[in-house]
Amino acid sequence: MVPDTGRHFALYFDTSSAVCGEPVVELQSSNSALNLAAFREIFSKAKNVAILTGAGVSAESGVPTFRGAGGFWRKWQAQELATPEAFSRNPSRVWEFYHYRREVMLTKNPNPAHLAIAECEERLRQQGREVTVVTQNIDELHRRAGSKNILEIHGSLFKTRCMTCGHEAANYNSPICAALAGKGAPDPDTHDAQIPVEQLPRCEQAGCHGLLRPAVVWFGETLDADVLTHAERVLDRCDLCLVVGTSSVVYPAAMFAPQVAARGVPVAEFNMEDTPATMSFRFHFHGPCGTTLPPALVRHDTEPL
Ligand SMILES: [Zn+2]
Repeated sequence: MVPDTGRHFALYFDTSSAVCGEPVVELQSSNSALNLAAFREIFSKAKNVAILTGAGVSAESGVPTFRGAGGFWRKWQAQELATPEAFSRNPSRVWEFYHYRREVMLTKNPNPAHLAIAECEERLRQQGREVTVVTQNIDELHRRAGSKNILEIHGSLFKTRCMTCGHEAANYNSPICAALAGKGAPDPDTHDAQIPVEQLPRCEQAGCHGLLRPAVVWFGETLDADVLTHAERVLDRCDLCLVVGTSSVVYPAAMFAPQVAARGVPVAEFNMEDTPATMSFRFHFHGPCGTTLPPALVRHDTEPL
């Protein structure tokens, strides 16, 4: 449906927000205690909670994005390496980049926002209520925090897909293959390892041995249709939607949040950004989501013990 061109979506909505953005956020933050109480009232009754999460949640765990100012791996940013063209030109370099990102994740941990979401999912499940995380993050920190109901719309750093047979598999090996051991250093003066393609990660399906790629959605690629359909079903039936660590007016949350708001379902944002708030997005909690989210999701007085 919608290609993974975050740039397109962000540009479109950024332009519109420049026109209609109003300083509603300021007004809301001055009433933040009232705002929180009102959110909590709705949260305590919600049966199906959809939580859209973005880069901000991972950033609070120190996960680099390789985007924006200072966000470089060697001489490049993610949008130059995370493309099918870059991989076909130089699979060794792209694998070094992903190997580095996988290894970095061994040193990172879920933060209080991930943990609050996971705890909330388990608690509400016991009450016959449902929480689903729809995330653009590929680092699996939600899974490590204990969340189970997760849709990874951009795939995972810890999955591979075979270029020949298409087989997808979980892969937590460190290093992912012998030739990448000790490779992937991010410093700008590091030379490419130039690993021969047959020594890069290869498919282990019987008789295949095809080249593996990271099972993530690259720039210019479309989202997996099944995952997208599932996400839309989740958003269609939710009665409360949280947008965490991103904004509901930029891709990818912008694919989902407006349709939720259009049904009259409350949308609550938890992020660092000054969002062009409209009345359709009911709540906005400004600040690091590791700080703002836990008190919002903690057990409500009216919940059964
Ligand atoms: Zn294969």
